[in-house]
Amino acid sequence: NQGDQHKIPQATAKRLPLYYRFLNNLSNQGKTRVSSRELSEAVKVDSATIRRDFSYFGALGKKGYGYNVNYLLSFFRKTLDQDEITRVTLIGVGNLGTAFLHYNFMKNNNTKIEIAFDHNPDKVGTEVGGVPVYHIDELEGRLNHDIPVAILTVPASAAQGITERLVKAGIKGILNFTPARIAVPDHIRVHHIDLSVELQTLVYFLKNYPLTEDTK
Ligand code: ATP
Repeated sequence: NQGDQHKIPQATAKRLPLYYRFLNNLSNQGKTRVSSRELSEAVKVDSATIRRDFSYFGALGKKGYGYNVNYLLSFFRKTLDQDEITRVTLIGVGNLGTAFLHYNFMKNNNTKIEIAFDHNPDKVGTEVGGVPVYHIDELEGRLNHDIPVAILTVPASAAQGITERLVKAGIKGILNFTPARIAVPDHIRVHHIDLSVELQTLVYFLKNYPLTEDTK
């Protein structure tokens, strides 16, 4: 909680994301404990500093056992997640958009789809996965430079026009699920995910470059 976090010195807090990333990797590899020496080598912080840092996290390393990875991870998540939740908008409540609105992104990271837009009168005014759907005409007024990220799940033909409006409405990053290559000003970041291309590529590689036990 807030009170606990304020007790952590700033120098310690700065190392937190570093620790977090390394421990997350360990956990993904199925490791449940780690020694301060291993940590020290991996994150290049001397082990005395690590022990002092970790005592602020309420984690006491045991001799011959080390630190409990899961305990530390849950502490880090709580502390780091106090960073504000990033608000996200979604444009195009079709099949893919609807799936995203039902998906709980909060499970794995601190982003939240708060508002969606579509031009289909059957969808406007409804809620999908708890997210209100507004008419695309209301985009500028509703976003109001308050939301930094947009997910684009409209047909390719609508992508560029909507992108330009999103930029004017203060969006900084776009996750583009349309097949269209969209043009944006330099200060806007676009990540493009074309699911059908990804799928085709996988199938192509399976056929032409099959994995064998030794090239894996
Ligand atoms: P469905 O046809 O079941 O709605 P879909 O994913 O096959 O889903 P698409 O044609 O890809 O449909 O459109 C995705 C969504 O984008 C639809 O809900 C559609 O109403 C919406 N849409 C299309 N053009 C625009 C636009 N110019 N502005 C806002 N929303 C749009």
